[in-house]
Amino acid sequence: MSVRVRFAPSPTGPLHIGGVRTALYNYLFAKQNNGQLVLRIEDTDQTRFVPGAEQYIIEALTWLGITFDEGVHIGGQYGPYRQSDRKPLYRQYAQQLIDTGWAYYAFDRPDALEEKRKAFEQQKKTFQYDCNTRMQMDNSLTIAPEEVKRRIESDEPYVIRFKFPDNTDITVNDLIRGQVTMNSRQLDDKVLFKSDGMPTYHLANIVDDHLMQITHVIRGEEWLPSAPLHVMLYKAFGWYDTMPQFAHLPLLLKPEGNGKLSKRDGDRLGFPVFPLDWVDPKTGEKSSGYREQGYLPQAVVNMLALLG
Ligand code: GLU
Repeated sequence: MSVRVRFAPSPTGPLHIGGVRTALYNYLFAKQNNGQLVLRIEDTDQTRFVPGAEQYIIEALTWLGITFDEGVHIGGQYGPYRQSDRKPLYRQYAQQLIDTGWAYYAFDRPDALEEKRKAFEQQKKTFQYDCNTRMQMDNSLTIAPEEVKRRIESDEPYVIRFKFPDNTDITVNDLIRGQVTMNSRQLDDKVLFKSDGMPTYHLANIVDDHLMQITHVIRGEEWLPSAPLHVMLYKAFGWYDTMPQFAHLPLLLKPEGNGKLSKRDGDRLGFPVFPLDWVDPKTGEKSSGYREQGYLPQAVVNMLALLG
């Protein structure tokens, strides 16, 4: 089977240099294995969408010579490659999980959830929508089927949540980290499908990696806590045998070593943390880029390759 990897940024602002490094490592891994690299835009969170960000990502990667075999800018046989253009596709997968008992409808209003959170806080506890609390909530596990049907037919807003099995150890075999195990009691019943008719990152990501026949998921370490949910989703869909392998890359950190390298660190220490200049379309705030500072793309690639 040939190697297929993807870089899957969300267009929420300029591409951080750590994201560029993730793209570079995917590129190098594809080249090393005679495989293919895909550029997929993950824009299911409409509230975080920033105009111009997708163009910025493409321009930055092109400048750096990180080329793709398929993607939003060049097409390919597994398209479309922008998740908002794939919107009609996801509902049937959410429905499949409902039908097989791996997911449920939740009707809880934002204010009811907030109240729950407050009540837990008063007892010095943190509320999590999970196997311990789901039976106290307003969802298709606690209300009668006819009432669920009535609410859906009368267009009451709902989300679809994943139903983690109780007290189950879930192991992720990470190519960098080794075996990472979490118990389902630590995990919340993540929303898979939102009331606006869009999937969340988790559902869209798994469906697309499966349909695009991705063999290796190489991404930043901040996604490691989500990986047990992703493994469970592959199981729930019956795709476990063809599940991609995971590699979670360590992040580029602040010089002090605590936390992710930020724009503020770059400003303070005098180096850009973005490949190209960027002006925030809402605030007008400027961020400087390596290109405009006069760095050669080869030098930026070399620096990122060595930071690993
Ligand atoms: N859209 C996610 C991000 O912005 C991608 C994570 C992944 O590669 O699965 O980082």
